[in-house]
Amino acid sequence: MNFGLTEEQEMIVNTVRSFVENEIYPHEDLVERTGEVPHEIAQDIKQKTIDLGFYACNFPESVGGAGLNHLEFALVERELGRGSMALNHFFGRPQNILMACEGDQIERYLLPAVRGERMDALAMTEPDAGSDVRGMKCNAVRDGGDWVVNGTKHFISGAEHADFVIVFIATGEDQTPKGPKKRITAFLVDRGTPGFTIRDGYQSVSHRGYKNMILEFDNCRLPHAQVLGEVDGGFEVMNTWLYATRITVATMSVGRARRCFDYALNYSAERKQFGQAIGKFQGVSFQLAEL
Ligand SMILES: Cc1cc2nc3c(=O)[nH]c(=O)nc-3n(C[C@H](O)[C@H](O)[C@H](O)COP(=O)(O)OP(=O)(O)OC[C@H]3O[C@@H](n4cnc5c(N)ncnc54)[C@H](O)[C@@H]3O)c2cc1C
Repeated sequence: MNFGLTEEQEMIVNTVRSFVENEIYPHEDLVERTGEVPHEIAQDIKQKTIDLGFYACNFPESVGGAGLNHLEFALVERELGRGSMALNHFFGRPQNILMACEGDQIERYLLPAVRGERMDALAMTEPDAGSDVRGMKCNAVRDGGDWVVNGTKHFISGAEHADFVIVFIATGEDQTPKGPKKRITAFLVDRGTPGFTIRDGYQSVSHRGYKNMILEFDNCRLPHAQVLGEVDGGFEVMNTWLYATRITVATMSVGRARRCFDYALNYSAERKQFGQAIGKFQGVSFQLAEL
C-alpha cells in the first residue's frame, strides 16, 4: 500500500511552500517588530492568493473555491504553518460553516467570502465558556421578527479584519436529567450593526501581529434573516462544518515544528564552538535527531 502523496498533492505542497517562502517570509521581520500587518501587504497577499487560485481553497468549486479535499487542505495548512499566522490570515480560508448559508445569505455572505470581498470570523468562546461551549451566557431573545442579543465573546481570531462574524448564541435552555442544557443558534452579524462592538483582546506571548478580539453585544438587534442554519440548530451546524478544523490546527502545528527544526538545524551547522559546528557535539545532534 502506498501512503505517499500523489503528484497533484506534491504540487499543492510545493506551490504553497513557495508562496510562504516568497510572499510571507520577507514580511515577517516587520510584523515581528511592529506587531502589525500593514494594509498594503495584507491586500497584496490576498490578491496573490486569489491569482494563484488558492483563495478559499477549502470551498467546493461549485461556489468558486478550489475544491480541495480534506487531505489536500490539511497539506495546505501544514505549509502555511511555517509562516507568520498574522500574515497567513490573508491567504484566505473562510469558515466552511458558510456552506450552511441559504437564500440571499448566499449572495450576502458565502460568495463574497469565497471571492475575498468580505472577510469572516467565528465566535464561540466566552470568558466562562471555553471547552464547555454549552456554558455560554451570550444570549438572544426573540422580539417580534428580530432577536435581541446580549453578552460577550473573547479570543476571536481575525475579528479586527472581519466584515462579518459567525456568532454562536444561546437561544434557550432545555431541562435534562444532568441539569439545564443551552440551545444554541448560529447568527451572521455584520460589523457596524448597532449594539455590536469589536475591541482589542489580550496580548499573545507569540504570533506577533495576530490579534484576538473581544466582541460585545449590548441589546444588539438582529433580524431573523441573520440566523445561519436552523434556530436552536447551532450544534448541528458546528458539528457538520467545524470538526474539519481540528485536523487543520494539528497540521498547522506540524508546519510550525518543521520550521523550528529548520532553524535549529541551520544554527547548529553555522554556530562554531571549541573549533567545530555545535551540531557535531552529540549533546546537540541527539536532540536534533529526536526532533
Ligand atoms: C490562538 C487561538 C485562537 C483562537 N481563536 C478562536 C476563535 O477564532 N473563535 C473562538 O470562538 N475561539 C477561539 N479560541 C478559543 C478556543 O476555542 C478556546 O481557547 C478553547 O475552546 C479552550 O477554551 P479555554 O481557553 O477557555 O480553556 P478551558 O476550557 O478553560 O480549558 C483549560 C484546560 O482545562 C482542560 N479541560 C477543560 N475541560 C476539560 C474536561 N472536561 N476534561 C479534561 N480537561 C478539560 C482543557 O483541555 C485545558 O487544558 C482561540 C484560542 C486560541 C489559543
